[in-house]
Amino acid sequence: MAAEHIRHWKIGDVEIARIVEVYGWEDDISMLLPDATPEFVKQFAWLQPHFATPEGKMIISFQCFVLRSQGRTAMIDTCIGNDRQREFPVFTNMQTTFLEDLAAAGFPHEEVTDVLCTHLHFDHVGWNTRLVDGKWVPTFPQARYLFGRREYEHWKHLHETNGYHDLHHMDDAVVPVLDAGLVEFIDADFKLTDEVSLIPTPGHTPGHVSVLVQSRGQSAVITGDMMHNPIQIAVPGTEARFDMDKIQAARTRSEFVTRFNGTPTLVIGSHFAEPTAGHIVPDGNGWKLKV
Ligand SMILES: [Zn+2]
Repeated sequence: MAAEHIRHWKIGDVEIARIVEVYGWEDDISMLLPDATPEFVKQFAWLQPHFATPEGKMIISFQCFVLRSQGRTAMIDTCIGNDRQREFPVFTNMQTTFLEDLAAAGFPHEEVTDVLCTHLHFDHVGWNTRLVDGKWVPTFPQARYLFGRREYEHWKHLHETNGYHDLHHMDDAVVPVLDAGLVEFIDADFKLTDEVSLIPTPGHTPGHVSVLVQSRGQSAVITGDMMHNPIQIAVPGTEARFDMDKIQAARTRSEFVTRFNGTPTLVIGSHFAEPTAGHIVPDGNGWKLKV
C-alpha cells in the first residue's frame, strides 16, 4: 500500500525519496489555523485538488525523506513509527511497512549513515526506534542520530518537568538512542556534506531546522514543520496552532517565503500532500505554491 506512495527527486547529484505513513489526511483547516473557515481555504483555488478539498478541508500527509549525498545516506526525520501509544487514535498502534518501503525506495535501512531530525515532535522521530522483544531499540544502530542541541535541551527540560501534553515519544523514540550512545548534538551551522546543510527555522519548536540541498546548480529545501500546508505560503504571518512560539514561527515563515519566492529552489513540504513539492511564486499581492 505505502510503497505506491514513494516519490523520488533528483537535485543535482543528490537523490531524495519520500516515504509516506499517513497519506492524504483530510481535516478541518481550524486544526491548523484556529480562526480559518472552509470559505477562507476555498478563496485560494490553487490549493485544489492537491492540498485542499472542494469543501475547504485541508489535506496533509505524514511522511519523511531519505537522501543520498556524497557517500552518506541520511533519513530526514523518521515519521510516527509502529506500535506507539499516542494522544490520537490515528497514530496509535500503527502497523506500516515503513522499513520495507525504505528498501523499495532504494534505501535499505542497513545503509543509513545518519538520522537527522528537523525537530523532536512525535511524528518526526518515531522510526528512530522499533519494538523488538518488548524493548525499544535503535532502528539504525549503525547510524549517528543528529539532534539539534537547542532542540534537545528544550525537550529534555519538558521531559524532566512533565511540561508537555504527550511525552511518550521521548521515552520510546529519543531516550533509547541516547542510551545507546548514538546521538550527536548539532548546531544550525552543521553540514551533512558539501551538498546538504541546515537553515535555522525556529518557532514551531525552539531548535527547529529545515534542510537545504544544493548540488550542481540545483537546489531544494525540506521544510520540516515550519509550515504544514501550502496555504501557509499564502498567509505566512498567520499564527498556527502547533507552533510553540507562534510569533517567532510566523516571522520565520514570512522570511522563508520571501527568501524562496521566485527562485528555482524546490520546496519540499514535510506535511505537504502529493505531489509534496513545488516552487513559491507570486500570486497577486501574495504567494502560492506552484506544483
Ligand atoms: Zn510534523
